[in-house]
Amino acid sequence: MPTDLELARASGQLDIKAIHDLLLLPSRKLLRDKVQNTLEKEPLWDPTIRPHLNQAQSLLRSLRLCYRLLQLRKLHNWSQEEYREALSLSDDKLPTTLHEIAFINIIYSQGTNEQREQWLPRCQRLEFVGCYAQTELAHGSNVQGLLTTATYDYEDGRDEFIIDSGGIEGAKWWIGGAGVLANFALVQAILKVPRRGEGVESLGPHLFLVPIRSLTTHLPLPGVTVGDIGPKAYGGFAGMDNAYIKFDNVRIPRTNMLMRFAELARGGKYTKAKHDKISYGSMVAMRARMPENMGWVLGKAVTTAIRYCVIRRQFTSPGELGGNEIQVIYYASVKHRLFPLLAQSYAFIVCGRELQNRYTQMQEALVSRGDTSMLPEIHSLSIALKVATTNDAVKGMEVARRAMGGHGFSWMSGVGVWWANSTASQTYEGDNYVIAQQTARGLLKHLQRLHQAKAVGEKDYELPPSSGYLNLAARSFWLNPSVILSLLSSRAAYLLGQLALAISTSPQKSWTDHSFATFALCRAHAELYLASTFFSILSSRPDIPPPVYTLVLIYSLHTITSSLSDLLESETLTPSNARELRYVYDWILMEGLSVSDVVSLTDAFGFRDWEVGVLGGKEGRVYEQMWDEVQWREGKEGRGKREKVAEFEGGQRDIWERVREEARGVLGFWKEGGEVQNEGERKRAAKL
Ligand SMILES: Cc1cc2nc3c(=O)[nH]c(=O)nc-3n(C[C@H](O)[C@H](O)[C@H](O)COP(=O)(O)OP(=O)(O)OC[C@H]3O[C@@H](n4cnc5c(N)ncnc54)[C@H](O)[C@@H]3O)c2cc1C
Repeated sequence: MPTDLELARASGQLDIKAIHDLLLLPSRKLLRDKVQNTLEKEPLWDPTIRPHLNQAQSLLRSLRLCYRLLQLRKLHNWSQEEYREALSLSDDKLPTTLHEIAFINIIYSQGTNEQREQWLPRCQRLEFVGCYAQTELAHGSNVQGLLTTATYDYEDGRDEFIIDSGGIEGAKWWIGGAGVLANFALVQAILKVPRRGEGVESLGPHLFLVPIRSLTTHLPLPGVTVGDIGPKAYGGFAGMDNAYIKFDNVRIPRTNMLMRFAELARGGKYTKAKHDKISYGSMVAMRARMPENMGWVLGKAVTTAIRYCVIRRQFTSPGELGGNEIQVIYYASVKHRLFPLLAQSYAFIVCGRELQNRYTQMQEALVSRGDTSMLPEIHSLSIALKVATTNDAVKGMEVARRAMGGHGFSWMSGVGVWWANSTASQTYEGDNYVIAQQTARGLLKHLQRLHQAKAVGEKDYELPPSSGYLNLAARSFWLNPSVILSLLSSRAAYLLGQLALAISTSPQKSWTDHSFATFALCRAHAELYLASTFFSILSSRPDIPPPVYTLVLIYSLHTITSSLSDLLESETLTPSNARELRYVYDWILMEGLSVSDVVSLTDAFGFRDWEVGVLGGKEGRVYEQMWDEVQWREGKEGRGKREKVAEFEGGQRDIWERVREEARGVLGFWKEGGEVQNEGERKRAAKL
């Protein structure tokens, strides 16, 4: 007998392929399929193992995965892109993830041509495995306040930096990939240059390549104290070895400072970078990737929840005793919670990709021509989108969990691991409340220039595209995109105006006294960008079925109805407008999409069953699967889980020894085919 999910799917006629192509470009799909076809055959890859493991066991598993991915890369001749896709498909960030997306990328973007040639080949074969070490025990957000110093020593013909933490408060902390694995750290440290007879000149934070573990023994090098910082909140990031690293007068050659933009010549002559935000390039790269990633992980949660709610039935209709119970997806309170999440995940994926395209253009201009003109806009926009999407996706995952009732709280909903890993995204790559201030500051500058230009009768000051709304004022009918965008524009403009007013009327307050207002402004700016980009992409794609257009409307109206207080306060809307808007929003949620539509829209993500929670399998045989999943503890088959989990059993002391051995194995991989390095490798070589 077909399941309710299959029945819903059968009654739909959407062109799922067209929608899927909108979410995942065909070229990327090809690449993802190739990698997934390989990965899903790997017993180690099975994501349902992970919730059963503790921190040390999870780390052991992820190190094994790192090793296995290197083997697969070699075996299947994966390109760099394919290998990175495999890393990104893991629910957990792996110990080698930051090496790929931060360490290598930063050397590429901030190293000179000679530095690239010197370092990158050895990084790419993982002879050098690196981490990004900025945060310290006592400092993170305030980069200028870092305590780690890099003091240039040019006495007696020397040409070196001395890297020093200056005490435990300056020890690097949270450093991903360095707990057991990395042998190099890219260290943010304050550059100090002694000037004869004039004291020491402090030149602010710069990046230095510092070896932390021996390339032969893998033991910490003299002057370096390094180790794992232990379990993290909610069991998140369990597969990542976040580290502390303390430096005591560690000497490195001068040429280990990344010098593409700022330079320190032999003898101490310093040349400043052309643009003060140029060293933020690497952060911008990481942030620009986050909105799309957030869309995919929210997509997994909402796919699981919608599919499960189509299967789940509770209560009969009044007066229908003995009849079929109602599928919970039909309850208004379920639709109101889940459909906006579906809309958000679409918006984050589609617009997030657009942001990455713009980042790539900016980066090309920067690296090839030293052209910094696009940097401020992309810097500001990537922050705004990082703030809004991490905030909403994390909130949304919890909403999806609750929409699944009791089973939502089981590991089988999948949400536990996704949420625990994602919630940290509101903190790393810059705490949302701290970085939102940078976008707000940029917007205030635009506003000021706009006023100045008007005051002296100049031609209009030209605003960057994402801030064009500052010129708008009109309003019209609720489902018309121009009305919607004008409301979102008015809201952002109002919040900006209020912030400017608050600053000018209370000069005694500090900038950070406004940090709640800057956060609200940053989100409003991002939400406008997301809605307008999504509308504009769809307007050029007549092949996309109408329900996707309904999703943009839901996304926009959800955003507007969640911020009615701003629109009422600014008198952009009257109370009766607000009532109408709520009515329209309710109508579109209840009538705008059929259950068959939303099932198709979740199918369009193209998730394989192992990517979503057990509750969200494509076939919809939820209860049989759940039953099978719990059998293994009693010694029964349990979908092969017993053997897979047993692989990681063992006491804590034993486990940590195995973790270290595995890390040595990953680092020795590049020599494969040559001398066998250690016990772990010998065993593995024997198995292959
Ligand atoms: C899972 C995870 C992985 C990480 N990986 C790495 C890594 O690989 N490498 C690395 O270098 N770092 C890493 N970090 C560190 C991370 O980047 C920092 O924790 C983050 O930037 C926040 O800085 P902080 O810890 O100093 O927070 P703090 O700045 O101390 O924040 C504490 C509180 O103060 C508030 N606050 C601080 N300043 C202001 C202000 N000016 N205005 C208003 N409010 C303010 C914040 O909003 C927050 O509520 C990681 C962190 C996590 C959680």
